[in-house]
Amino acid sequence: MAAIQTLGELRRSGYRSRPVKQEIRDNLVCKLRTGETLFPGIIGYDETVIPQLVNAVLSRHNFILLGLRGQAKSRILRGLVDLLDEKIPVVPGCEIHDDPLAPLCAACRARAARDGDDLAIGWLPREARYVEKLATPDVTIADMVGDIDPIKAAEAGLNLSDELTMHYGLLPRANRGIFAINELPDLAGKIQVGLFNILQEGDVQIKGYPIRLKLDVMLVFTANPEDYTARGKIITPLKDRIGSEIRTHYPVTRPNALAITKQEAWTDRRTSGTSSGLSIEIPGYIREVVEEVAFQARADRKIDKRSGVSQRLPITTLELVVSNAERRALANRETLVAPRVTDVYAALPSITGKFELEYEGELRGAEQVARDLIRSAVGTIFTGIFDGVDTRAVVEWFDLGGSLPLGDAIAADEMITRTKGVQGLRELADRTGLPPGAPAPLVASAIDFVLEGLYAQKKISRSEERGYTAADTAPRRPTRREEQSMEEDIRIPGSKKKYYN
Ligand SMILES: [Zn+2]
Repeated sequence: MAAIQTLGELRRSGYRSRPVKQEIRDNLVCKLRTGETLFPGIIGYDETVIPQLVNAVLSRHNFILLGLRGQAKSRILRGLVDLLDEKIPVVPGCEIHDDPLAPLCAACRARAARDGDDLAIGWLPREARYVEKLATPDVTIADMVGDIDPIKAAEAGLNLSDELTMHYGLLPRANRGIFAINELPDLAGKIQVGLFNILQEGDVQIKGYPIRLKLDVMLVFTANPEDYTARGKIITPLKDRIGSEIRTHYPVTRPNALAITKQEAWTDRRTSGTSSGLSIEIPGYIREVVEEVAFQARADRKIDKRSGVSQRLPITTLELVVSNAERRALANRETLVAPRVTDVYAALPSITGKFELEYEGELRGAEQVARDLIRSAVGTIFTGIFDGVDTRAVVEWFDLGGSLPLGDAIAADEMITRTKGVQGLRELADRTGLPPGAPAPLVASAIDFVLEGLYAQKKISRSEERGYTAADTAPRRPTRREEQSMEEDIRIPGSKKKYYN
């Protein structure tokens, strides 16, 4: 097709141009027939968002994605590009990508009349047919639709309402493509009216002059439901013209969440230009803890639910966790980077900014809320892995006055040496799934996880000055026998029987 260079050749090839929504529909039908993966890289929406999207496209709807921040809304919209033809013929140089078979603008019509079948054509790749705009209250009708250029009109001796005097905005430039507007409620009401008129009538008034623009555009939008009331709204006639309203959501299952973070977080750093020559191995429990922080944040009543907790929280947190481990490895001249749970606390800068606090949270402060979340997340993951495992030997070592001053900068070998005297600790560390003969950084990470886990369970305590020591919550710890009987009362045997309370 791309070999075709004139209108005559295009006509003889039998090429038929289609409205953009028909084109997208046709290509989707093909993909559905062959069973091709739709929206690659979008995880966890297979049974919820994607079927609704498919239906909207099959119906040739303009649609809106409604959801909180960090729910892959923009990414889905960008994925629509894959549903466009690889290339379409255009009149070269036309700002609105006119169809050579049916040009819209006066300039192209004049060219077509003059050149006939010799009219040159160009081929527009699909990436160039996607236009995205973040709506803000200061966006004007000139930005969106266009403006009349009086100087241009005067020079050419044209009437102001002649479209030749138009300076095109974003929407006409998206002609024969997809126009995505993010955060639609932020767009001023009168701009929304302008959009609606274009959608409905193909007409728009600019500075009082009626301008006729029969555009062919698929309009897609995103909005955050929180902003509906907080910042703006979508005017009813426009809302009415949006065929489908599709709700996005945060990952429902932990495996989905883990997969998204694994895909998005920049943790494979061997490709970087200034390669440090380090290899990176992230233990599974680290990934779980980071993900659990987000899950707990979304459920925490100290955190504003309406504004949500983006999936960018675990993504950027994991990146900082790896960086802190990298920093330690470089300082200690280690070649293997193995992140520790302690590194998650060093990732506070990527956590505290990712949520809005309720009043109760404000009182506690963002940093303390984040620390509480991490500790609680560690506790959940640790309890999951160490369910039914006897940790008392290690706890007793601390109860008998033992203390371990450790920090997040300490070298792996040093950590192993310092903790050697704690009976049972290494055995617990092995329980995390350490392979036999595991390298020191991984062993150190597992030891750190056990200590942080016991601290999260409040079985031992930790302070800035003294490191890990015995728990100071109760004046007297129960004896081994008492603890055993307590455990029998509250233990959940296997997964067969559960006590809900
Ligand atoms: Zn044109």
